[in-house]
Amino acid sequence: MTRTVYVNGEYLPETDAKISIFDRGFLMADAVYEVTSVLDGKLIDFEGHAVRLKRSLDALDMAEPCTKDELLDIHRKLVELNEINEGLIYLQVTRGSDGDRDFVFPSEDTAPTIVLFTQNKPGLADSPAARKGAKIISIDDIRWGRRDIKTVQLLYPSMGKMMAKKAGADDAWMIEDGYVTEGTSNNAYFVKNGTIVTRPLSNDILHGITRKAVLRMAEEAQMKIEERLFTIDEAKEADEAFTTSASAFVMPVVEIDGVALGDGTPGPIACRLREIYLEESRAAAV
Ligand code: PMP
Repeated sequence: MTRTVYVNGEYLPETDAKISIFDRGFLMADAVYEVTSVLDGKLIDFEGHAVRLKRSLDALDMAEPCTKDELLDIHRKLVELNEINEGLIYLQVTRGSDGDRDFVFPSEDTAPTIVLFTQNKPGLADSPAARKGAKIISIDDIRWGRRDIKTVQLLYPSMGKMMAKKAGADDAWMIEDGYVTEGTSNNAYFVKNGTIVTRPLSNDILHGITRKAVLRMAEEAQMKIEERLFTIDEAKEADEAFTTSASAFVMPVVEIDGVALGDGTPGPIACRLREIYLEESRAAAV
């Protein structure tokens, strides 16, 4: 089935969608994005993603391409047109193009580019990967200093995933100044003696929408949480570990740099949080 995608106000077959070669998203990675998951044909935490999109745009002095209500309509229409029951909606906004390449930003009346497309992922919630748990390796974090802005500069995270694959693992956690920052495309946590430990929010990590929801749910379930810096060695000695992201929800981690955590299977807290997250998110989906 040819996907119907959205480009600057139009719904088009993916093969007819066009963006200028001078678009700053293409030339300069001058663009921000969001990924929203779809379960039961409904959007998970749309509000959180819309708020973070605005924050990213504001941080880069980029114009909003449309209102939040329009954005919701576009998301819903794409779900309907592409018959998505479980999957993802990718949204990208760029600073647009004024028809040439220049380091200087184009004038403020240059229209932003907005693109959305769907990814059909049957079985997203009941994922075999989550039942197995992920093996991760640690790598240096050599990204820029504003990781709280969700830009499309994803080359290094993408290389990190490839380093993991090459090492026979599934993903990588990044380390800066001796402390874990986050995963290539997720926030990182470990659990020791019943306490969930994760790095506090700052410019060093993305403020995960799933992180916020999961920490709230963990608190409501009377789980203990510590937001502090942690080393990879602490994580390796943990009882269990996990990651969170909008596309993989709560993903148990069973191995770090070749060291099995606990008995090497997904831990009870990660599994419980995945269940709670999926249940509550489905109930609140729009
Ligand atoms: N950190 C990074 C670097 C990411 O790319 C992502 C996913 N985009 C996350 C964390 C998780 O954020 P969210 O829960 O909003 O998907």
